[in-house]
Amino acid sequence: MIPRSFLRAFVFPAAECFTPTRFWSLYKATRRFQYQDDAKRKEVRSGHLARVWNAARNTTLNLQRLHEVGLPDIPVRPDEVFALLEQLAPVSKAAFRRHFPIGVTSAGESADWRYQSTAGTTDRMTVVADFRKRDHDRASELHALYLALGTEIGFPTVEIPPNACNLVCGLIDTGPPSFLGYLWQAVRRRQLFTREALTELRGRFERQFVFRLHTLPPLDPMAVPQLNEVLDQYLDQIVRLRPNHLRGFPVYLLWLADRYRDRSLPPLKWLEAIGPYGGLASPVMMERIASGFGSRFLQKYGTSELGVVAASCGHSSGMHVFEDLFHVEVLRQGKPVAAGQMGRLAITDLINTAMPLLRYDVGDVGRLDTTPCRCGRRTARLDVLGRAQELLTTPNGVLTASDVADLVFRDSAASNFRLEEVAPNAFEMSVVARSSLGTPDVEALRERFAAVHGGVRRLRVRLVPFIQPESSGKYRFVFPHAANEVI
Ligand SMILES: [Zn+2]
Repeated sequence: MIPRSFLRAFVFPAAECFTPTRFWSLYKATRRFQYQDDAKRKEVRSGHLARVWNAARNTTLNLQRLHEVGLPDIPVRPDEVFALLEQLAPVSKAAFRRHFPIGVTSAGESADWRYQSTAGTTDRMTVVADFRKRDHDRASELHALYLALGTEIGFPTVEIPPNACNLVCGLIDTGPPSFLGYLWQAVRRRQLFTREALTELRGRFERQFVFRLHTLPPLDPMAVPQLNEVLDQYLDQIVRLRPNHLRGFPVYLLWLADRYRDRSLPPLKWLEAIGPYGGLASPVMMERIASGFGSRFLQKYGTSELGVVAASCGHSSGMHVFEDLFHVEVLRQGKPVAAGQMGRLAITDLINTAMPLLRYDVGDVGRLDTTPCRCGRRTARLDVLGRAQELLTTPNGVLTASDVADLVFRDSAASNFRLEEVAPNAFEMSVVARSSLGTPDVEALRERFAAVHGGVRRLRVRLVPFIQPESSGKYRFVFPHAANEVI
């Protein structure tokens, strides 16, 4: 293990002297930004956006969008760019896919580009990120860790992603997984200074010494007795590894936390924070996970195409938006809603000039909170409430996946569910019981859902041994009857 102080005082500054990376300086700047006054923050954001906007003028898709709303294709200044952005219609993943790659990237392919894809299958999207964008991504990973742990490097993290390919696949066929093992192989083969070797070494250095990551494989769905055996094996590994930070797909964390509580094991004193790895964590899920492990659950929101967008400071609800890197808007029918109201998230990436994302409809719904936070940071806070395709229209208004998950998981005997609207206002719900010791109160569940919905014609609830995830490895909770554009 390399001492944290050595990394901070020597390794990172040296990396900035001898290589193009600036992630350590960027990390410190993004932390400072959160406390700066409104005028200064606006100046930084406007400068970033003008740069992205002017790069977007080199792409067919964005030129079409300018043309559609009658905006001229001319260079813009920082002081006018936010007013122009408001005039652009949001753009969907489908539009990016149609124009990818030539119509959405700002110049001919460059050697420092990387292709980053989302894990979804139906709405999969690939984004091009240049070196500068990836450096900012590294900085914001550190920033999210700082918000969760009060420090950022060298603290062991155990992570359980929903899909085995998220991080480890790149390491499988490319040589020894450890930094020193790979270094030795590269020296023996006289390949140390090749671009590939240096990239692989940097990845291993970050995993092993900066983030100290230990990745466990995704949990497969199975019936309770077998699942409990597997959960026990995972818990034993977590106890052995003593991580300060545990990240996992939220449904897995719920199972593990419940199982930990059921075994009446002592609180994990070294576990300082728990966070999500993709997927939705509703308030009741977060509460169950936190109390099961006797630790804190801190929200984080990001996607593979954008990087980390927002993270919780733990002092209030919602996640601080990294506003120097992203402009997050909440829209209904394409128009911004007031703070506190729920709508579709349209995100503008203020850094990525290789593939500009202006008012990108990311497919999630949420709301913004602009009231002051006790931590002193001045940025807006974001709540993410699920996928737009999971919204239910009811006589009582729109129900999000987070609302429905809270309804179900309030029953501590429920460990997973799937709600399908088979005909308008007629539902079938599959619920998985947490253990053989108790079963969910189906009648109470039916009443709770009917009361919140206000117009249920039929609701059939059945207990099932397990539920199959989507092909991405993630569980989706709600399947509305028609994929309607509710908001
Ligand atoms: Zn805060």
